Amino acid sequence: MKIRVLGTRGEIGEESPGHRLHSGVLVDNTLLLDLGEREYLDLSPTAILVTHLHPDHAFFVRDKSAVGVPIIAPEAYDTMNIRVPEEEFRLGEYIVRAIPTHHSKLVRSLAYRVEKDGQVFLYTGDLIWIDTMYHHLLGDLDLVITDGSYLRKGGMVRRDEKTGQIFGHNGIPELITLFSGFTRHILLVHFGSWFFEDVEGSAEKLRKAGEHMGVEVLVGYDGMEIDLADIPRSTIYSREHLL
Ligand SMILES: [Zn+2]
Ligand SMILES: [Zn+2]
Repeated sequence: MKIRVLGTRGEIGEESPGHRLHSGVLVDNTLLLDLGEREYLDLSPTAILVTHLHPDHAFFVRDKSAVGVPIIAPEAYDTMNIRVPEEEFRLGEYIVRAIPTHHSKLVRSLAYRVEKDGQVFLYTGDLIWIDTMYHHLLGDLDLVITDGSYLRKGGMVRRDEKTGQIFGHNGIPELITLFSGFTRHILLVHFGSWFFEDVEGSAEKLRKAGEHMGVEVLVGYDGMEIDLADIPRSTIYSREHLL
């Protein structure tokens, strides 16, 4: 699968030339994950998978405009043509698993595991955590694309006093810890304000954090292209070896 990262900026005011657009990842020029900008429709995706209905992942909730392409998302919205997916489904040659995630208390959220021709990646959108009961759905992943909102440990996780529900974004260290059980390659996107203080320095910090924790951290930018065929298979780690 050929992956093109369209946008890597979180829902913040800061931007840089390489990190200007909101979330979007295009697979093989056909399958779009998140629709953070209206202009992604110009790429003529045949299907769109939305992680959650925040405007930086689904531009249409900001301006209420129609989208002429079928959308798969965790919940219905207004009169939009949205399908809420079952746990596993096919989209042409792709086998997709929808995996519930923790992020917001107002909207539901899903990560998508996308598999084709023996290659597989996970795309999460904004993220605190994936419950252990769903970890068996992840398996060995060639690549994880996830949330770069907070470098600091613990990120920005809050708890609703009434319901006890957590919401926000976890820190990159916790996300690396979570996903290092399933992959050797983590691509960070959706950068928060901290990243823009010194883009080059921040990217270096992320790569070092990955090295320290035993994974390769790739620092996303708008327009970045990755061919999963070029990524070494996850041969070093297999949970079976640890049992
Ligand atoms: Zn977001
Ligand atoms: Zn969000």
